[in-house]
Amino acid sequence: MVKYKHRERAIKVARGEMQDLFYTLYDRTGLDVHEDTFDNDVFTLRPFYWGDCNCGYEDREWDFFEEELPSHTEECFHTRFTVFEKELERKQISPPERDRLLTEWAIKNGYPKGRYGIAFHCDCGRKEVEDKWIAENDHLDICSVVLPNFVYKPDGLEIEWYKYPLRGAKSNKDICFEEMRAIIDHCVRSFKEANE
Ligand SMILES: [Zn+2]
Ligand SMILES: [Zn+2]
Repeated sequence: MVKYKHRERAIKVARGEMQDLFYTLYDRTGLDVHEDTFDNDVFTLRPFYWGDCNCGYEDREWDFFEEELPSHTEECFHTRFTVFEKELERKQISPPERDRLLTEWAIKNGYPKGRYGIAFHCDCGRKEVEDKWIAENDHLDICSVVLPNFVYKPDGLEIEWYKYPLRGAKSNKDICFEEMRAIIDHCVRSFKEANE
């Protein structure tokens, strides 16, 4: 199990025209989308990173989930829920009736929200231990897995994408097309100035 979370980059970037801007940047600088890393005072460009975590986080995550995190106890709501759900499955109960029975069962067993979020409820402490670990652990900022693919230094804009520029892209700032166009223009100019 691998979770690539990077907390501040949570804003989805619209692809479409924004993607064209990035391809313009690659065209005008002659940099290769999949090969080249570039960095100056104005911006940084990095290709998508295909390799493994190199900060140790994923090893620690593996150890935690495989070895340290305790199982739910037998008395835990989650364990009993799993048993009950399997029973309904075995009996091939129809979906509406199944929902009704699950809601009834949840309330009877101390979970007043009923059907909602039932599969994640835990009252043995395991989930708390897990959530705490996740909140306190992450890749280091220098890890290749989480380094942003684009940084615009004047205002600290960071964007990450999946495989290709702007595919599944996320940013730490909400940027509109006009702002992005000005940013890309500035990047191109800074590149040309340095190479003249
Ligand atoms: Zn890492
Ligand atoms: Zn539990």
